[in-house]
Amino acid sequence: MKIIVLPENWVSRIAAGEVVERPASVVKELVENALDAGAREISVWVEGSGTSLIRVSDDGEGIASEDLPLALDRHSTSKLRDEADLFRIATLGFRGEALPSIASVSKLEIVSRTRQEEVGSRLRVEGGKKKEPVAAGCPAGTTVEVRELFFNTPARRKFLKSPSTELGHICDVVNRMALAYAKVHFRLHHGGRMLCDYVATPMPRDRLHQVLGAEIAAGLISFSLGKGKMRASGFLSSTPSSFSNARYLFTYVNGRFVRDRILTHAVLQGYETLLMKGRYPVVVLYFEIPFEEVDVNVHPAKYEVRFRRQAEVHDGVAEAVREALRKEAKGPSHIIPHGEPPFSGVQESPLPYVGGISQRRGLQWSESDYADPQAKSDEVTKGFFSSLDILGQLLGCYLVCSSSRGMALIDQHAAHERIAYEKMRHQLERGEIERQNLLVPQILELPVGEAALLEQRLGILEHLGFTIEEFGPNTIVVKSVPALLPAGDYREVMRQMVAEFAEIGQSGVLRREVEERLMTIACHSVIRASRKLEQQEIRALLNELDEIDFATQCPHGRPVLLEFTQEQLERMFKRA
Ligand code: ADP
Ligand code: MG
Repeated sequence: MKIIVLPENWVSRIAAGEVVERPASVVKELVENALDAGAREISVWVEGSGTSLIRVSDDGEGIASEDLPLALDRHSTSKLRDEADLFRIATLGFRGEALPSIASVSKLEIVSRTRQEEVGSRLRVEGGKKKEPVAAGCPAGTTVEVRELFFNTPARRKFLKSPSTELGHICDVVNRMALAYAKVHFRLHHGGRMLCDYVATPMPRDRLHQVLGAEIAAGLISFSLGKGKMRASGFLSSTPSSFSNARYLFTYVNGRFVRDRILTHAVLQGYETLLMKGRYPVVVLYFEIPFEEVDVNVHPAKYEVRFRRQAEVHDGVAEAVREALRKEAKGPSHIIPHGEPPFSGVQESPLPYVGGISQRRGLQWSESDYADPQAKSDEVTKGFFSSLDILGQLLGCYLVCSSSRGMALIDQHAAHERIAYEKMRHQLERGEIERQNLLVPQILELPVGEAALLEQRLGILEHLGFTIEEFGPNTIVVKSVPALLPAGDYREVMRQMVAEFAEIGQSGVLRREVEERLMTIACHSVIRASRKLEQQEIRALLNELDEIDFATQCPHGRPVLLEFTQEQLERMFKRA
């Protein structure tokens, strides 16, 4: 593709700013160029923390000899043809800034040959000064070598972290790209060592194994949901495996790794009530949307995007995640506390992105591309809990059952809580929370500030089945409560809600607040003390669990069920 110099008036529309902040940014830009050139094999060599050497070599389409000097000029790119392209960017690069920026702070050499040429050419740039290009014998493709990065910008060099930290950033960059381009072979060498060798594969799940390791990858389920011209697909962890930070959240928009508030929020909302506070899931989200619906020209490093229809994107992604988890929670094939189930090797649909402009430009939104062969039909997984054989009750709060695969332990409190929560949520959706009127209304006195808080939230409480009236200064009277609450003193649950209102302050979103209050109610609906359950009561509980969604987690994200397979039991007893 011909390189052109962008006219001034286009340049002024491109997000300005520095792209080369650290060695990892160089790797990111060079690998992006290789992917844009349709490479099938990309090798990265790094010495030290990347300041001595970064070399990226690809087998992509190459740069024609006559164009090579142009590639090093500011704002010259082969990726935009007309001004309108700026609003439907289909490639990873488009600013024409990476190579000149890198060349201005290093000693750069680029060698390239297109498949049509017999001889390639080599060009050296030192601190931004171009030398004469010379003919070079080389394979088709491009190799860019960056030495002495930041040699002329001591301030930036000083700003760098330890070599191991910088190398860590470089690995992250390679891993992120590799997760989205399973059909491309990635290699990363550091010093004499090969750190990554991700052989190309048509199956995205194989790439998950290569990048995330067998243990994490085995716990991931695939998902895919299309809405209009948008599609959210990928892989996510069922709830028991979670991490204390968001480092395993990978979100891609049209094959580009992004850090986007909307997408992250949507993903986490999909997990709502399924993870404990402060825990994060493993999610690889490939979000696809027509190029003109998303603006990637927001930030020079292109990690940020802006969606034209933000709310639709958010809700679509949240729903995709929720649906996948709902399906999975019905057939808890993964509820395994330890051990690594073997890699299933399931045939899966190939990733829509395989690198290269042509594939990207030709993107069609066909249903079959995203068929999800892993999805379980409800038929097969229905009735997991009802099918259990009850063996007994342990310590007054755990149910011990035998499942078709081994032993199932159920936390009866957590199960009751989830059932109460889901029942109320359904009633709420239908707009009809069942109430019970109190024969004797209960009077509750509150501290001044809290009474005011409660007054502001009367609407929410009303919504949830409480009828509350002001009785006197700082005193309220409770006339009805949600029917799910067991008979007794309701003042405690009221107090707790007021305390939570105080904690959330004014920031809470209404929907979220209502859901959080549901949790409190669900929590209070459960008789806390250990209690002996009769056989029929246990059976009824198990049947109810099959009727609700997300039965495997209580509303605070704690597990309801732990299953030990025969194989695991044998391993624990050192029989296997
Ligand atoms: P951009 O990627 O935004 O176009 P760059 O400065 O990264 O800008 O690259 C400038 C141009 O050089 C690209 O548009 C492309 O034509 C060419 N180029 C750079 N790297 C490669 C590569 N690895 N293979 C083929 N062409 C390349
Ligand atoms: Mg580029």
